[in-house]
Amino acid sequence: MRLLMSPTYDVVVAGGGPAGAATALRLARAGHTVAVLERSHFEHPRVGETLAPSIQPLLRTLGLWSRFVAAGHLPSWGTRSLWSGAGEHSHLTSAYGSGWHVDRRTFDRMLFDAAGDAGASTCLGCSLSSCSYDGMWQLTCSDGGRLTARVLIDATGRSAAVGRSLGARRIPFDRLVGITARWSGVDVTDEHYLLIEAAAHGWWYTAPLAHNAMIAMLITDADICRRHHLSSPMAWTTDLNQTSATSARLHHKIAGVASSPRVCSAASQRLIRSRDLRPWLTVGDAALAVDPISGSGVPRALRTAEAAAETATRLLSHPSDAADLITQYESDRNTECTTYLTTRASYYNAAAHHPTPFWTRRRTPVPRVVEYG
Ligand SMILES: Cc1cc2nc3c(=O)[nH]c(=O)nc-3n(C[C@H](O)[C@H](O)[C@H](O)COP(=O)(O)OP(=O)(O)OC[C@H]3O[C@@H](n4cnc5c(N)ncnc54)[C@H](O)[C@@H]3O)c2cc1C
Repeated sequence: MRLLMSPTYDVVVAGGGPAGAATALRLARAGHTVAVLERSHFEHPRVGETLAPSIQPLLRTLGLWSRFVAAGHLPSWGTRSLWSGAGEHSHLTSAYGSGWHVDRRTFDRMLFDAAGDAGASTCLGCSLSSCSYDGMWQLTCSDGGRLTARVLIDATGRSAAVGRSLGARRIPFDRLVGITARWSGVDVTDEHYLLIEAAAHGWWYTAPLAHNAMIAMLITDADICRRHHLSSPMAWTTDLNQTSATSARLHHKIAGVASSPRVCSAASQRLIRSRDLRPWLTVGDAALAVDPISGSGVPRALRTAEAAAETATRLLSHPSDAADLITQYESDRNTECTTYLTTRASYYNAAAHHPTPFWTRRRTPVPRVVEYG
């Protein structure tokens, strides 16, 4: 762990996941002084393991492709689905050859360390506890340390903790949760693909992981999870047994019931600020968190990191242009949000519908253009 070296920075980034680490890395390479504060020590497993082939050019741009390949992640040859019928999508037709099944803890830690190697001050086990603005950001960390910064970036993921503390509000698009179990000691030699299957209470996702592990996840709505006790091992397994391809895949490979499925939020949302021209930005899930069906969370986080780093650089060099720069940045995020909602509607409208609340809620017309803020 590198300690914070100075009390004053051009930019402080709260959150060291993919979005925060990539933003800090870009800013440090551009010659700015930057600190990134990460609440965890990357000690717990993280969800979001399947990376689309489009991750490759993004990692190449960051200069991290060979480091990524050396980490031994599994190539993903494509997606099989039971969605609107049986389907297969092969990544072999992609310009980048394959997607990837990654250990997210290893992947996220690699990005965080790369930000430190690029010159960012990094701090683990440290979150931002308070912030105020008097021409500079005055920041207090959870360990009591104090920092000042010219620009502040919220990369705290779905919680958008910093933005919300500054008065921005979340527009929720759903209340999705993922209910996950993992198994180790599984032979995944022939399993290098993602399987998605529509079911009564939501949809199932199964994928292999490095080191002979496998993950299965039910994506449903929080209220449906509660009503049907879907996080209990018994109900989760019963739901799994009602699937066809998913249960066949797991029963073929795994003996026994999942011990304790873990619930995490997968809610999609947009964080909006209104007429707040202080120099702070949101990046990654903090700005726009998307339904995992889009499979685009991590590539999106790395793409918005590029936009955030560029805007932060301009805020540092032309502070008097803050109104235009922030308005443009937010407008671009609104455009992304509209595209996301349109894509999400097309995915769910194409699914074979079960006559259950999860699916009837999702029979929606394609949304109109979103203009928030
Ligand atoms: C169930 C599920 C399945 C998914 N599957 C996929 C998938 O297959 N493929 C894909 O590409 N994407 C997937 N995603 C989405 C993907 O995980 C996210 O889009 C991606 O992690 C966003 O990166 P981020 O850096 O914005 O946020 P995060 O990854 O959430 O990182 C935020 C970081 O901020 C830290 N933090 C939080 N609060 C504070 C604080 N106050 N101070 C300091 N640090 C803080 C956290 O510890 C964390 O490290 C999935 C998401 C879910 C929920």
